[in-house]
Amino acid sequence: MICPYCSGMMKKGKLISEGRGLMRFNADNQRQDLFGAIAGKGIVRNVKMTNGRAELDAFYCERCKKLVADVNLA
Ligand SMILES: [Zn+2]
Repeated sequence: MICPYCSGMMKKGKLISEGRGLMRFNADNQRQDLFGAIAGKGIVRNVKMTNGRAELDAFYCERCKKLVADVNLA
């Protein structure tokens, strides 16, 4: 993949979350209320679960220090 910031080549890899097996995105560092937590708001749905850890295909640019990934949030 070509980096959208510098047009250099990005490295293909995986973003890995250990622990409870969830990966979550919190927009603008908003505090999540209990209802949102129960409803699973912000959870990345398209992760692959492997041995209790979540993995998401991603691309990394060493020059820009940026990650790019397709993310399905719910
Ligand atoms: Zn870049």
